[in-house]
Amino acid sequence: MSKKVVVLGEAREGALRNVSFETIAAAKKISGGGEVVGVLIGDSIQSLGEEMIHYGADRVITVEHPHLKQYTSDGYSQAFMAVHEQEKPDAIVFGHTALGKDLSPKIASKLASGLISDVTAIEGEDDAAVFIRPIYSGKAFEKVKNKEGILFITVRPNNIAPLEHDASRTGEVTSLTVDITNLRTVIKEVIRKSTEGVDLSEAKVVIAGGRGVKSAEGFAPLQELANLLGGAIGASRGACDADYCDYSLQIGQTGKVVTPDLYIAAGISGAIQHMAGMSNSKVIVAINKDPEANIFKVADYGIVGDLFEVIPMMIEEIKKI
Ligand code: FAD
Repeated sequence: MSKKVVVLGEAREGALRNVSFETIAAAKKISGGGEVVGVLIGDSIQSLGEEMIHYGADRVITVEHPHLKQYTSDGYSQAFMAVHEQEKPDAIVFGHTALGKDLSPKIASKLASGLISDVTAIEGEDDAAVFIRPIYSGKAFEKVKNKEGILFITVRPNNIAPLEHDASRTGEVTSLTVDITNLRTVIKEVIRKSTEGVDLSEAKVVIAGGRGVKSAEGFAPLQELANLLGGAIGASRGACDADYCDYSLQIGQTGKVVTPDLYIAAGISGAIQHMAGMSNSKVIVAINKDPEANIFKVADYGIVGDLFEVIPMMIEEIKKI
């Protein structure tokens, strides 16, 4: 049966995040040739609608309001529920991002629907679609099917390939006026800790340091390697707890979940809580002095050695390319 699928796009600093295009690709798989409707919520986001169409959305609805400039679950849920009321979709797809993780349960409870969260792959299409999601901190995967009612999924960034960008695709971008009222929270100002570098949760290359880097300065060679490879810096909780870096870099069960094409773990032992956040990376390289380190169990390439010798060698070789 063909379905109307509504997809929530996400913008940051005036540009759409990649996960917006990945959710469109997921929606196409489950739509059974039906309609994919992109939704953008924010302030001054009208111009981004076309980009969603170029990546496969059939049309886009924008909800703009000064109170939606910064995300609040209150404001965004009012905006999204107004779109839902107008469109009455058969299925909804959000990114499994900080925003999606916060907003999806609220919307699911308002709709009295189920929620299949953190989907990493979709087997089959249309009504036969089966959703694969990690469980037990990534130690196993389960396959889930939606039995009845509205299908609502969140997809983990960097797992479902977006469709090819096609600038010749056309579609309507319309705006929906929603009166955002009775907000319990209004964000006055956002003070960012750091706006530099590649977004860790969407990075294709992550260079992560653990307690083995030994100090904040110890991250310098990792940063140089990340700059060369266009990657982002990540860390174990061990490194964060030791104050070598900020907690916003923590990867793992209680940190960020990443699925880059290349994950380089330097001086990280490979505790189960760390692996919960990175074991689905496509290629894992581990550098550790201890040949028995647990991280080697999930590594595609293991280098037994001192990271302060190995990483400069890697930098030197990459510079030759
Ligand atoms: P260590 O275990 O101390 O390992 C350091 C490694 O560096 C060692 O293997 C050592 O051989 C190697 N090394 C030392 N010097 C060098 C060198 N010069 N060159 C190469 N290798 C070197 N951890 C997370 O990472 N993320 C989480 O989200 C997380 N959540 C947790 C939640 C709970 C409830 C609990 C209880 C724990 C959690 N932890 C988490 C902590 C986790 O259990 C580990 O303590 C932590 O991951 C260890 O960090 P590490 O690997 O950097 O440090």
